[in-house]
Amino acid sequence: MAKYVYFFGDGQADGRADMKELLGGKGANLAEMALLGIPVPPGFTITTEVCTYFQREHSDPPGLERELLEHLKRVERLAGTEFGSVENPLLVSVRSGARASMPGMMDSVLNLGLNDRTVEGLIKRSGDARFAYDSYRRFVAMYGDVVMGLKPQSKDAEDPFEVLMDRRKKMRGVTDDVDMTVEDLRGLVSDFKAMIRERMGQSFPEDPMEQLWGAIRAVFNSWRNPRAEAYRRLNRIPDDWGTAVNVQVMVFGNLGERCATGVAFTRDPATGKKEFYGEFLVNAQGEDVVAGTRTPQQITLAGSQRWAQNHSIAEDERKKRFSSLEEFMPDEYHQLTDIAETLEKHYHDMNDIEFTIQDGKLWMLQCRIGKRTGQAAVRMAVEMVEEGLITKEQALLQVEPDALNQLLRPVFDPQEKEQATRLARGLNAGPGAAAGQIVFNAPDAQERTARGERVILVRIETSPEDIKGMNAAEGILTARGGMTSHAALVARQMGKVCVAGCSALEIDYAKRRIQVKDRTVKEGDWISLDGTTGDVYEGQISTRPSEVLQVLFDGTLKPEDAPVYQRFAKLLSWADEFRSLGVRANADQPDQCEKAVAFGAEGIGLCRTEHMFFQGNRIDAVREMIMAETTDGRRKALAKLLPYQREDFAAIFRVMAGRSVTIRMLDPPLHEFLPHDNKTQADLAKKLGKTTEDVRARVNSLAEANPMLGHRGCRLGIVFPEITEMQTTAIFQAALKVIDEGILVHPEIMIPLVGFVREFEEQARVVRHVADEVMQKEGRRIEYLLGTMIELPRAALIANDIARVAQFFSFGTNDLTQTTLGVSRDDAGTFLPFYLDNIIVAHNPFQSLDVDGVGKLVRLGTEKGRHTRRDLKVGICGEHGGDPHSIDFFHRVGLDYVSCSPFRVPIARLAAAQAALRGR
Ligand code: ADP
Ligand code: MG
Ligand code: MG
Repeated sequence: MAKYVYFFGDGQADGRADMKELLGGKGANLAEMALLGIPVPPGFTITTEVCTYFQREHSDPPGLERELLEHLKRVERLAGTEFGSVENPLLVSVRSGARASMPGMMDSVLNLGLNDRTVEGLIKRSGDARFAYDSYRRFVAMYGDVVMGLKPQSKDAEDPFEVLMDRRKKMRGVTDDVDMTVEDLRGLVSDFKAMIRERMGQSFPEDPMEQLWGAIRAVFNSWRNPRAEAYRRLNRIPDDWGTAVNVQVMVFGNLGERCATGVAFTRDPATGKKEFYGEFLVNAQGEDVVAGTRTPQQITLAGSQRWAQNHSIAEDERKKRFSSLEEFMPDEYHQLTDIAETLEKHYHDMNDIEFTIQDGKLWMLQCRIGKRTGQAAVRMAVEMVEEGLITKEQALLQVEPDALNQLLRPVFDPQEKEQATRLARGLNAGPGAAAGQIVFNAPDAQERTARGERVILVRIETSPEDIKGMNAAEGILTARGGMTSHAALVARQMGKVCVAGCSALEIDYAKRRIQVKDRTVKEGDWISLDGTTGDVYEGQISTRPSEVLQVLFDGTLKPEDAPVYQRFAKLLSWADEFRSLGVRANADQPDQCEKAVAFGAEGIGLCRTEHMFFQGNRIDAVREMIMAETTDGRRKALAKLLPYQREDFAAIFRVMAGRSVTIRMLDPPLHEFLPHDNKTQADLAKKLGKTTEDVRARVNSLAEANPMLGHRGCRLGIVFPEITEMQTTAIFQAALKVIDEGILVHPEIMIPLVGFVREFEEQARVVRHVADEVMQKEGRRIEYLLGTMIELPRAALIANDIARVAQFFSFGTNDLTQTTLGVSRDDAGTFLPFYLDNIIVAHNPFQSLDVDGVGKLVRLGTEKGRHTRRDLKVGICGEHGGDPHSIDFFHRVGLDYVSCSPFRVPIARLAAAQAALRGR
């Protein structure tokens, strides 16, 4: 018989940390903390399997109810209270918890079990009627919102419970919740219930058991809400995982001045510094800290002092109004830091924790591996190895490869920053520098970025509805909330620049403007955010390279003065120890090659020769070649191009200094090189001594209905072999020249878009012939490889035959995706967003390899190719070469290398190491 319910609490648990699939992250970690002897309010977890069952069958699995009741009894015994009792009622929270944490996605219900009768019991037990009714009205509102569906769908619509609350306050002439009397709160409860009856045509359930089941089902249903789905898509969380439900005895942080609630990180999530970091509120309940409705206090004394300094708050005022937990409750503080240390040692990672203090007793409510910025991730990983807390392998697996991007992101130009007007300072929640035009809501952010504009999303506070807009914006600025607010958490995860809790901002959504003391900025105005310091500036400040780039590219910083760089380099050197996949770069200019090498590329996996055609006035010769009507005419024009190509290749070979350079023969359709506007056409005609009509006629004759599948790739070189001849000549002359300079050269010549063996043979014959000729003339020989791209399904299918003649393969996964899916990259924009929104495809196949389809061809092509030629070198050079998810797949297929854009080389090195470590 299946087990659906798992107990935790009081030093015991049925579950464990490694049971996240079944218990969700929250449930598994609550169990683990209980096992570690950490004080956790007792409770139980209903498994994710029940959610999946519920989604499928629209009913509970048989036996669930009996099991749940048994567990409820056990919890009652431990808590010494009884669910639904009028004397001493048990109250619980019902909390969702999926396998992967989804900040703010799923709504929890607190204080469940209250009704008009049990509230009297709570008064008896706590001796505090105000507390009891405050808990009651919170519960009714939360239940109405979450379970009964009264929560407004759009952010700007008002919550009906808040409307009633405000009405009451106005009636009583008070502004603050704390000024409401017991009578007010009792009145609110009945207002709330009346409103529910009116709106929903059904009453608020008084029966605690009915409340419990209602909440459990609501959690299951919330798995399907559109916001949760959007989050899953952004984070690649499959829809069929389901969520678990945790039912847990309530503890109260709102029972007076000896009570508090808070959230913390075992290390600073923004910088990575080894320093306990957290925020708390006295006399408050759970959500209050994250919601950002009250300004939280800092947990450590040092943090509190720093915070006060940033907010220009004097020390005596800080002590009075914003003292740290360290000062305010030293015993609980030390208990908390001990637990933090236990958790770090146990999980070998930084933890994000939730806690509540009730009458001086500390309870842990949650722990999980904490989200962090890229900078913090690298710093923690490297320092934890140095502390002996984790191994290099663990460190490598700890850092999200894409997070390395953040270390390469620009910082503000210090001079311009110096002169800029600082508008305000908030929390440095997401590092980096960003400038953009102000927008006040997520849809505007999406719309304007779609038009190519750069925007900063400014919100009083953010909520899950804003996720897509946050993703679109350059940066996020909020007026409320701490380092653990929704905006801060999500921004860190997305790697966005974020300044949170900038309390000096008075944001007026209706008037679309921000007031800061005597200054006003409006929608559309430029502002600049420094997410590393928390500063907000008026206007647009230009940016300059990050510390890493200043060391690697500019030489403006010495490595020993650049700690961020040092850690970055160290982590990547560890990655190189473990990865087996080679990493090359796609680059076609010497400066790009230099960057690639600086980032650790071991060679060039794709040098697109046509990119060089657009430099200087080479395009004239290219156009002349295309316009020529005879082979001789073409040769004449190509002869003009030859010295350029030779110099281009020589420059690249010099930079690459003996590393492999894979050069692709001309690939795009010729039409792309011709001018399409009248004036340039007329100019070209004049240059070539032809009429504009001649030019136009040639342009028209080369136009194709579907150029992606047209006269391109090796089809060009086959019809016009003189093009291949010229390019081959250039490559070998350049190689010999550079060798004369004492530099090694390893050219690899690559024929694109091969579908038939004969195509390859034809082109190979031309290349070999010309190469021999050049080498003979110079009287020296060099080693080179001659291979092909595999970018048509047919090529993958006959890879065994192609490998007979080709010495290496490189999968061109961009074209292979287009041709396998029958989807053109240029036209996908009309329907792919819809497909993604409606989860017809889980992710963009042009960003992340379609492993099930295109991946099968990659595997097949590799196996077939190596069947014929055991030592066949196989790589990939599409967009996917820099995508960590795809890299994992390429590693498993056994490719020799991936090739990606220079800036993704560090990401690929780390992703390749992770793939190797996971494969162990
Ligand atoms: P989320 O997944 O959004 O963090 P949680 O389930 O952690 O939601 O709950 C929301 C808030 O309620 C948190 O601050 C949490 O600490 C608090 N909370 C949850 N359960 C309890 C409980 N049994 N007693 C006291 N506070 C609770
Ligand atoms: Mg939580
Ligand atoms: Mg291609």
